Amino acid sequence: MAYIQSSGILYHGRRMLGSRLRSGTQKGISLASGAADAADADAIGRAIREGYERRTGGSAAQYARGARALAGGTTGNLRHFHPYPLYCSSGSGSRMTDVDGNVYVDCFLCNGPLLLGHGHPAIVEAMRQHESMGSLILNPPLATDLAEEIQRCMPSAERIRFLNSGTEAVLTAVRLARAFTGKDKIVKFLGHYHGQDDQFLVGLDPTGKSFSSGIPPSATSTSIQVSYDDTEALIAALDGNPDVAAIILDPAMHAGGLWGSSTEYLRAVREAASARGVILIFDEVITGFRLSLGGAQAVHGVMPDLATYAKALGAGEKLAAVAGREDLMQALDPDRPSTRAAVYQSGTGNDGTYALAAGLAAVRCYRDLDVGGGYQALIARAERLAQGMRVAFSRRGVPCHVNQLGPMLQLFLSDAKPGFEAFSRVPSGPLALFYLAMINEGILLSLPTSNHVYLSFAHSDEDVAQILEKVATVLDRYDFRAVIRAADEASPRSESKANPLIHGRLR
Ligand code: PMP
Repeated sequence: MAYIQSSGILYHGRRMLGSRLRSGTQKGISLASGAADAADADAIGRAIREGYERRTGGSAAQYARGARALAGGTTGNLRHFHPYPLYCSSGSGSRMTDVDGNVYVDCFLCNGPLLLGHGHPAIVEAMRQHESMGSLILNPPLATDLAEEIQRCMPSAERIRFLNSGTEAVLTAVRLARAFTGKDKIVKFLGHYHGQDDQFLVGLDPTGKSFSSGIPPSATSTSIQVSYDDTEALIAALDGNPDVAAIILDPAMHAGGLWGSSTEYLRAVREAASARGVILIFDEVITGFRLSLGGAQAVHGVMPDLATYAKALGAGEKLAAVAGREDLMQALDPDRPSTRAAVYQSGTGNDGTYALAAGLAAVRCYRDLDVGGGYQALIARAERLAQGMRVAFSRRGVPCHVNQLGPMLQLFLSDAKPGFEAFSRVPSGPLALFYLAMINEGILLSLPTSNHVYLSFAHSDEDVAQILEKVATVLDRYDFRAVIRAADEASPRSESKANPLIHGRLR
């Protein structure tokens, strides 16, 4: 049982090619000493990086240019990987094309927003139809149109406020909770990500540490970190802190490894929150419209007081929302004298025409897909992909655990007992190398700095078959067992490696 208060309290409850091609090594046979593994792993790493460099000269040139103008050569840390980032020129459906003209089956989907795939005709058409409206006008009725659609889909969405990013939606939800309760502290869970605000840039791994410089201790002094799926730890944290305003959680536990949530646990969290007058916030930035039309709340039948949405909501446009109980949301209504608390929230771009038009078209698409069995088909496809991967790795004796939740997957190249704590200590280098090797085969399964694999409604059975064929190609060509062993030897599993932005540099 464990919990951490940022001010200090923790509540826890073989032989391959020298450029080595695979040559019939078998599961269970000990092949090489640590030194031989390291030599093999180096050769494999070199071969994969050289393969990448051969196909992506245009990206290398873009990086050289970009690094002189953009901080880090890209527009976000996650987009940056070694030896240099991939620069893309267009996307269509399930495919994305890089600046060298290489086409990829895209399962990264720019970290999830493109649940309908690239350039979905309904989204493109909706934006085209609104061209003459102007990109930003005062109080467009379009915002109400979209809010009404969200009310239909999301069981807990009694009132809605639109914003531009998931980070802003989380900030607003937390401010509402603090205003409503008059309390300050927020319970967040280890392995849960909630955007870029200082107070939440802690505890992606079990240590609970902050994962960015520039965060003053005062910024995280109201954040209490608790182990997920541990009801006792949560109760201890709540009972030890009568000044908790809210509990926030990502029902997918996406950043911490896609471990998801059990309905039983969510019910226990709901009960613990209600019993103490604590506001329960579901951060559905990942799960909203993705696990089901009604998000995780509909899948589990557990209602949060407030929920946040982004990513799939805007289908690639900058759009987010905070939505929830009317009595809480009315704190944002300047006209309601009965309001216990008056909360400020305003954003210059909160009602951008294209974002709202895209969001409206996207939510209508999701509703149609839901009626037509589209979600079942998508999730069945993801299950086939996950199962196909498990078989491909296990046939070749390469340790791999695949988590799959709805249309999302995450891979762990390890034989450790599956779980957040154990897997956060698994070196991330071999997986980064695997993703780079997949890029060389025309499959952007995930970025080497990430572990997020998504299927969209645009992916077909043929795409899944192609991905699995290339997984087999990569595993047959390179001995990932040696890569994994070498990484394990080089880096004992005592220290957490969960955050690839810090630990997972591809060498
Ligand atoms: N919450 C969750 C669960 C997320 O996954 C993310 C983004 N990955 C955010 C919040 C922040 O969203 P944004 O990047 O739009 O600010």
